Amino acid sequence: MSDLLKFNLLQAEKAIKNKEFTSVELTNAYIKAIDDTYSLGAYLETVKEKSLDMALKSDKNIADGVARPLEGLPIGVKDMFCTKGIKTTASSKILDNFYPTYESTVTQKLWDDGAVMLGKLSCDEFAMGSSNETAAKGNVKNPWLLDKQVSPGGSSGGSASAVASRSALAATGTDTGGSIRQPAAFCGITGLKPTYGRCSRWGIVAFSSSLDQAGPLTRTVGDSALMLNSMAGYDKKDSTSADLKMPDLIDCLDKGVKGKKIGIPKEYTQDGISNDIIKFFETSINWLKDAGAEIVPVSLPHTKYALPVYYIIAPAEASSNLARYDGVRFGVRKEGQSLDEMYELTRGNGFGEEVKRRIMIGTYVLSSGYYDAYYLKAQKVRRLIKQDFDNVFEKVDFLLTPSTPTTAFSLGEKQDPLTMYLNDIFTVPASLAGLPGISLPVGLDKSGLPIGMQLIARAFDEPGLISTAQVIENYAEFNFIADGAAK
Ligand code: GLN
Repeated sequence: MSDLLKFNLLQAEKAIKNKEFTSVELTNAYIKAIDDTYSLGAYLETVKEKSLDMALKSDKNIADGVARPLEGLPIGVKDMFCTKGIKTTASSKILDNFYPTYESTVTQKLWDDGAVMLGKLSCDEFAMGSSNETAAKGNVKNPWLLDKQVSPGGSSGGSASAVASRSALAATGTDTGGSIRQPAAFCGITGLKPTYGRCSRWGIVAFSSSLDQAGPLTRTVGDSALMLNSMAGYDKKDSTSADLKMPDLIDCLDKGVKGKKIGIPKEYTQDGISNDIIKFFETSINWLKDAGAEIVPVSLPHTKYALPVYYIIAPAEASSNLARYDGVRFGVRKEGQSLDEMYELTRGNGFGEEVKRRIMIGTYVLSSGYYDAYYLKAQKVRRLIKQDFDNVFEKVDFLLTPSTPTTAFSLGEKQDPLTMYLNDIFTVPASLAGLPGISLPVGLDKSGLPIGMQLIARAFDEPGLISTAQVIENYAEFNFIADGAAK
């Protein structure tokens, strides 16, 4: 492995500013790593010339003494973020010719802070999936146990695979029901889903607008802190973005967890969860205890309804959001004899199976006869799920749960959509309640695949989330590197 690939984001930030190496050198190391890991399929698009231009500008800023917070650090972007003049497909055939004329707020903030763009990363089509297998251009591979062909998780599978394989220093992701946290867990990296409203959704391809949230996928908790510092912030172009100042998350590192109360929800140790994950769950609890936290058993009684509620609300919003892809305004058109036929052919050819399934479910639950029975009911139960969290957060500061019930499954293993949906069981509840969550790697299972633990915090307590996650990170000392990582 090139020595430069060993630096994590925080280390590289310091080293570049201390002139240990240049951004052009670092960016070139990553461009080579992208080639070396090409078979993983993480990148849909690379922009080498642009990357090197940005790196050169960063080196000049450093030489001039005007370095910005992420100056010269090369990162990848999930293909859900619109990038000006650079193809943005949301991994869908229907957007195969879409070159946005604008830049998403979150990516613009990253470039404004000096980050260098490496390219666009694959994901499940329109971020609908948990395995990256619904991507129009084919699945992405997890760099762990490469010969076993394991899923990187989804929908931010390209982002997670790129960070774990050292072909991006860090990456952006979006999380609607777990799409940052679950792939982070499967690939042995850290993924942070901020509070709903913490980052602007402007310029992100919409899936389910009341749930979608952008966040970082990184190697360490400190890296997440550094990257989220730049991604977060109020944006008048997104009416749901929160007008709240976030403290500098770097100041939240090394704060410990003494005196904090950690809730352990009893609903998160149900049947079907792997023994290795249970073992590490118990170990993580002991680490927090050892660090001076108080462990409190809690209950979130409506958890069992979270998946059914999510799979009504998310498809309902998706069916409405995806109505815009009609062959007229965006993307690829397939001509027909009439306007109706053009719509049918465009959408029939442009969308994949999973996206069509969700559009049909969503249209059904919003239809006049069924709206009250399904959509409205789901909204009411969502409220109860949120109240469960409100109640426990009167007693505790954070919740600790496993990120997923199993470690990464094999590509092609989950053919039935319902078994795939079950994989989101631990990530969806916090999404429905709009709460921030982080997944971080704590160890390997018997077969050598990473295990992720999730911490959930009160709304807008990303600072506390970072401090507490770092305590677990320090105990876990997860220093394993995927066998498929760039060498
Ligand atoms: N796996 C979930 C789904 O398919 C979550 C996806 C996401 O968070 N974007 O909807």
